[in-house]
Amino acid sequence: MSSSDSLFERAKRLIPGGVNSPVRAFRSVGGAPFFVKAARGATLVTADDRELIDFVCTWGPAIHGHNHPRIRAAIGAALENGTSFGTPNPLEVEMAELITRFVPSIQKVRMCNSGTEATMSTIRLARGFTKRDKIIKFAGCYHGHSDSLLIKAGSGALTHGHPDSAGVPASFARETIVLPYNDRAAVEAALTANPGQVAGVILEPYCGNVGFIMPDPGYLAFLRAITAKHGVVLIFDEVMTGFRIARGGVQEREAIVPDLTCLGKIIGGGLPVGAFGGRAEIMDLLAPLGPVYQAGTLSGNPLAMAAGIAGLRLLEEENPYQRLDFLGRQLREAVLGACRAKGLPVQVPQCGSMFSIFFTDAPVRDYATALRGDAKLFGRFFHACLAEGVYLAPSAYEAGFLSTAHDGVALTRACEVLSGAIAAL
Ligand SMILES: *Cc1c(COP(=O)(O)O)cnc(C)c1O
Repeated sequence: MSSSDSLFERAKRLIPGGVNSPVRAFRSVGGAPFFVKAARGATLVTADDRELIDFVCTWGPAIHGHNHPRIRAAIGAALENGTSFGTPNPLEVEMAELITRFVPSIQKVRMCNSGTEATMSTIRLARGFTKRDKIIKFAGCYHGHSDSLLIKAGSGALTHGHPDSAGVPASFARETIVLPYNDRAAVEAALTANPGQVAGVILEPYCGNVGFIMPDPGYLAFLRAITAKHGVVLIFDEVMTGFRIARGGVQEREAIVPDLTCLGKIIGGGLPVGAFGGRAEIMDLLAPLGPVYQAGTLSGNPLAMAAGIAGLRLLEEENPYQRLDFLGRQLREAVLGACRAKGLPVQVPQCGSMFSIFFTDAPVRDYATALRGDAKLFGRFFHACLAEGVYLAPSAYEAGFLSTAHDGVALTRACEVLSGAIAAL
């Protein structure tokens, strides 16, 4: 039995499903997950000493590759001073200054410990600000696992066939209106049918949790205009896209100014961090200034701030976005070419360092069209790549990620493996 297999047996006895986050369990692609004991650059080292080229990048955070020396050094330096103070610390101020500079729509920001906390808190703020209760979200968008947002959700919830979670009271779910992404008429109709009742519209401005899907031209501007018209708070969940699609996220690339923004993943440099921020007028409703309560024992943790700050500063120094897009295009072309040669229908949406591979002939523009992708075929493709040392996300409904460590050699090798796996399907 391999080390991974025996670890998984031990884990299953004590941890539900053997994993601490469901999509890690490989349920949608079949087989058992491997355990990783180390990671560096673009490479994971498994418990069985296999080296894998990694396109999951810890589900987004590792934009500089794994275990970057600058981030490790920053954590080490912070560690010398202690792990948690329970008081304000200087690194929190530095982080707030960086975030507000990178993402100008964020006038004020609060740190928390996960993307889930960030989205949950923006929903509460939108409700507190508007004194309305209903929220609009879009099918297939995943915003973490808080009650109001686990309705027609993407990511692991979708992968495991539970886009609506058990344990969410129907009375909560009624406050969440779920609409198809990229459908303007649906938003107009929902706002007309619920006059003066909708507090916020939350979305992934580029979807990454139902596979990677980009908005139709003008869709985000439409959402900005119609929410402003109805006094509804527009919330961009950029937990995945923030600092990845551009330094200032999708909102920079698309020149849209949301009211509130959720951040996570890259902002922690690999440690558990989230943040949310936006218009000062809304953010100042947070306790201790205002009546909307939100808190966190470890929020603004010095180690996490040090890691995140080091990662953000590296982005500023290297400005890697053109290079990442070049790498992303190379991967996209390889997959398209191999599928064309094979006569296999495929869609490969890609922007910068995010991509998806959907085995379908129809363009993917929402949840319904994403589900048309051949998930069984994806499972075979996934395992063929893994056998040759390339790790894609273990689900047909997750985005893939590149990092600056996916240099020429790793990417060339990965493209060969992907092409070979497609040829053999
Ligand atoms: C990952 C993710 C979240 C949840 O973040 P966690 O840190 O896992 O709680 C929320 N929104 C989006 C868009 C995400 O990709």
